[in-house]
Amino acid sequence: MKKLNFSDEKKNVICFGAGVQSTAICLLIFDNKIKLKKENTYFLFVDAGAEHAETYAHEKIIFQLAKKNGYKYTKLTPQENPEYFRSHIEGRNIYQYYYDNGWLPLPSSRACTVEYKDIPTRRFCMAVSGAKRKYKQIVRKFFGISADERHRATGWRRKWNAYPLIDWNLTREQCQNICLHYLGYKVRKSACFICPLTPHRDILAMYKTEPHLFAKCVELEKRKQIKYPKSPATLWHKTPACALIKKLQIQQTLTSF
Ligand code: SF4
Repeated sequence: MKKLNFSDEKKNVICFGAGVQSTAICLLIFDNKIKLKKENTYFLFVDAGAEHAETYAHEKIIFQLAKKNGYKYTKLTPQENPEYFRSHIEGRNIYQYYYDNGWLPLPSSRACTVEYKDIPTRRFCMAVSGAKRKYKQIVRKFFGISADERHRATGWRRKWNAYPLIDWNLTREQCQNICLHYLGYKVRKSACFICPLTPHRDILAMYKTEPHLFAKCVELEKRKQIKYPKSPATLWHKTPACALIKKLQIQQTLTSF
């Protein structure tokens, strides 16, 4: 693997989402496959407060590895660091924010990502740069976009950000192999438990292994129904959570015969 060199005077913010691809970037940095100036490098995990327990456990491991390797690591949460989030968030995690408003995150809208990931990341970069408008000239963000989703890293994004996985032509599957190689386990896809993009198998897995989280999803749908009774209150695939689980369980029973 050819070493990538980013050891210029720019500051580097490694956007760590605790998923497969951003973990692969962290591990390759720790193994010096990506050259950076440590004093100019900041690992950043923005926590919307609704990850699965497995992701939080994994995040702690990367935090410890970053520290062991002499890097700065920051975790931002709405409760602890409200100044990095917009004022209407009022220190609430993503679940509480949607619950209070009687809303559901929508698959067609990026509002949740903007509020709970993009804006805090931008504010962190501004703080690191010491500049406001021109922070992009001082700070380079590293994103875990793999070669199989390179369409997400085009145009102006390529000018200001770094995409080492694309530079290496690494796919998501290869990133998972990198995680397995360095950590000895596979990394789960990071996502909020209320994410509207959750696939069927993960909804069923949450129902079985984290029933308290599934119950919170049901509560969120109920709250939406009460506040806005005229529009459907379904988190996933236009089907209420409980009905969806019944359907998925029947499907699972049929396929096991
Ligand atoms: S994981 Fe899903 S719910 Fe959470 S911020 Fe991203 S798109 Fe929104």
